[in-house]
Amino acid sequence: MTARILEGKVFAQQFREDAKKKAEALRAKYGVQPGLAVVIVGSNPASQVYVRNKHKSCEALGIYSEVIEMPETTTKEELLAKIDALNDDRKIHGILVQLPLPKQIAAHESEILERIRPEKDVDGFHPVNVGRLVTGEPGLVPCTPYGCLRMLELAGIPMDGQRAVIIGRSNIVGKPMLHLLLGKNATVTICHSHTKDLPAVAREADILVAAVGRPRFVTADMVKKGATVIDVGINRLAPDEEHPKGKLVGDVDFESVKEVAGAITPVPGGVGLLTVAMLMENVVRAAEMQLR
Ligand code: NAP
Repeated sequence: MTARILEGKVFAQQFREDAKKKAEALRAKYGVQPGLAVVIVGSNPASQVYVRNKHKSCEALGIYSEVIEMPETTTKEELLAKIDALNDDRKIHGILVQLPLPKQIAAHESEILERIRPEKDVDGFHPVNVGRLVTGEPGLVPCTPYGCLRMLELAGIPMDGQRAVIIGRSNIVGKPMLHLLLGKNATVTICHSHTKDLPAVAREADILVAAVGRPRFVTADMVKKGATVIDVGINRLAPDEEHPKGKLVGDVDFESVKEVAGAITPVPGGVGLLTVAMLMENVVRAAEMQLR
């Protein structure tokens, strides 16, 4: 039996429609348009593509959007002053500083991200939002794991009482995913590079989330029959004749795992499409929280 394919575009479309409706409701009730400011420092080409995509998404959903481009040579003080101004700007409900930062300020990343007021922290990286997620209080949650959770809900995948295993313990994916699944009453285990007999742990999972950053790390022998497999990984392989830019693959060996799993997300076309849609949702949620 081949797994049900959880197509990112179907879920992302639903999340965008929800965000659009909520944005319209805010306009009708308070006369306010939710607003996002994205600050990009320097000229990293990948970051510029991401920022353009975020701006286009906002426009499509009726969310006000500002892109603030700062030069490569920006100092920490200049960036903090810009964040302070955006914190006080009533048109802006969400602030996002695009990472990575240029090397002269990269060492101050935590201080810079913590300068964003928690209620405008649409990336969900501020320690106050991290704390709220851990304690189960309402706050802003990092977009990628939040998208995974909402997709599981919308797909009707049971979580209550289920065994969930997450491979990867990063602050942006693995750890928030742990708390989100715990909040849904799953029994959650997190694996990392020191985990002993990781395949045996993974095989216990009803829901297996791979956020490892290693191409095709999860193979069929690591997956319980019928499990739901969420592949967060985005890895580019070395270029070959068929893929001159390098083929994009996930952390899961899709071809073999889909023969064992009950449901699986593909790469590309899976979790990657949820992240920007969830950012839109976070901007609207941030506006709702600030207007309440
Ligand atoms: P990360 O910060 O590099 O963390 C990787 C995690 O995997 C670490 O906890 C590491 O363990 C663990 N790990 C690495 N090698 C391992 C091994 N051989 N065995 C067991 N555990 C191992 O990565 P991340 O930022 O969470 O990202 C993970 C993947 O998701 C990447 O491919 C990234 O591109 C992708 N991603 C996608 C999106 C999206 O929008 N779809 C968003 C974010 C990230 P240790 O902690 O012990 O080192």
